Amino acid sequence: MKFKNACLKLTLYYILIVMFISNTFSVALYSISAHEINFGLRRQERILHDLPRFENVPEFFPDLDFEKMRLEQLQTAKRALLINLLRFNLAILILSGGLSYWLAWRTLKPIEEMLETQKRFTADASHELRTPLTAMKAEIEVGLRDKNFNAENARVLLKSNLEEIEKLENLSGALLKLARYEEGKNIVFEEISLEDVVAEAYLRVEKLAVVKEINFENTFADIKIKGDKVSLTELFVILLDNAIKYSPRQSEILITIGKTDRRAYVEIKDRGVGITKEEVTHIFDRFYRSDPSRSKMKTDGYGLGLAIAQKIVQLHKGEIKVKSELSKGSVFTILLPAKI
Ligand code: ADP
Repeated sequence: MKFKNACLKLTLYYILIVMFISNTFSVALYSISAHEINFGLRRQERILHDLPRFENVPEFFPDLDFEKMRLEQLQTAKRALLINLLRFNLAILILSGGLSYWLAWRTLKPIEEMLETQKRFTADASHELRTPLTAMKAEIEVGLRDKNFNAENARVLLKSNLEEIEKLENLSGALLKLARYEEGKNIVFEEISLEDVVAEAYLRVEKLAVVKEINFENTFADIKIKGDKVSLTELFVILLDNAIKYSPRQSEILITIGKTDRRAYVEIKDRGVGITKEEVTHIFDRFYRSDPSRSKMKTDGYGLGLAIAQKIVQLHKGEIKVKSELSKGSVFTILLPAKI
């Protein structure tokens, strides 16, 4: 409703501007044309007046009055001009009405979509922040009500609270990262080795891979690119972390670094749960997480990782592609402009 009202309001403003210009031109055109017609008729009147008189003309036209004729002609011409200008302005009004509404809709639609996304984001973030707080509050309340609450119970309670605090910390950390990459702040572009960045990211997720006994097969190449080392390492940590998280134990992950004509690429292929075609269109949305019952995997996360990854890729004018098949695995490919 608000969007429709704003659209109509903007349409009205556009129409007012167009009609103001059109009317100003019409008034100017009317007065100039009327003046020119009057001038022409006067000249005509003078010529007719100065013509040699025929003998019997006054007999046929006893009330021949050039002044009156001129005024009549001037009136007729002015009326015709006015009607034409009114028609023209009416046509402009109808045309500008339609065009203005279309233009207003096109101008406001992206803004409306942006506001809608922002609203959803705020609601999702608040929900995610509330969940651990509610859990902590409930535990503390139960503990306070318990008359036999002892030191051991307190230790369990504090441990559980600490876990919730860690979750809050991770969430606020992810939100801050997202905001930072959206602004594109603190990004330093320099010549870096893609191999070094991927290796650094691997080191950060190695522990998780060891726990799940995941085997890595790497095909690396020494490719230099212009990029921000910190954010790119973050990008590959997110992708490798996901590949491990959504893979079964003792499976394989393949990392390939290569180069096409003008672009360097890193491909991360897992043999995990995979993603449905429908879900692939949403996985980069903030707070999107696939249905955990489908993958039968309970994994930690807030659905912010791939949103951050996408922002980092965009900052590097790159591209992120996903190919996935349910129960077979996923391939995430990052394409970045290579340094020639
Ligand atoms: P999170 O992993 O914290 O849920 P992400 O933004 O990193 O958030 O991922 C969004 C969703 O995309 C995940 O919930 C998961 O369903 C899906 N996804 C991402 N990477 C993979 C992968 N390698 N295999 C299967 N599903 C994946």
